[in-house]
Amino acid sequence: MKIICIGRNYAAHVLELKNEISEEPIIFLKPETAQLQPRMPFFIPDFSTQIHHEVEVVIKINKTGKHIQEKFAHTYYDEIGIGIDFTARDKQSFLKSKGLPWELAKAFDGSAPTGKFLNKSSFDSIQNISFHLDKNGVTVQQGNTSAMIHSVDKLISFISEYFTLKKGDLIFTGTPEGVGTVKADDILEAYIGNEKLLTVKVK
Ligand code: ZN
Repeated sequence: MKIICIGRNYAAHVLELKNEISEEPIIFLKPETAQLQPRMPFFIPDFSTQIHHEVEVVIKINKTGKHIQEKFAHTYYDEIGIGIDFTARDKQSFLKSKGLPWELAKAFDGSAPTGKFLNKSSFDSIQNISFHLDKNGVTVQQGNTSAMIHSVDKLISFISEYFTLKKGDLIFTGTPEGVGTVKADDILEAYIGNEKLLTVKVK
């Protein structure tokens, strides 16, 4: 499986990092080893002193597809979840300044925890899902998929022009504003609506 991530998909987050809004979705990948096994803590890697949390709605692909038309994209997923796109922001800033790829800052081991998935039938609309992240019991990020610059179905169509999607692939759909640094002993709890779907202990 592969993990496909979308950058800069919520305008307020684009502005907080002083980036530009892009007309095309910004795409990067994480390998399978970026997954974090359930109940395992997230260990801050030695190469960074500025790991940021980015809470994101995650789509799980249910079948193989290529050149998927936007109007059929909804048939390629049944399950919606939540994840954290851990980012070594110091490393990413360095790589961006040199015009280099982001993988070292984004795709490292354990950088893509995901929680329990929910069936999409439990939502009225995929583009009206509220979600939030609590750090040590305080809400630090909250968003709603209605604020996405590129909708889920548009993203699936776009991605599948370049990469064949396969069953089990995950799409991280971008983070809203409020990203921030984590430190050892932080507890991160990610919710869709009022349902807690993911807990990550930072070590
Ligand atoms: Zn992200």
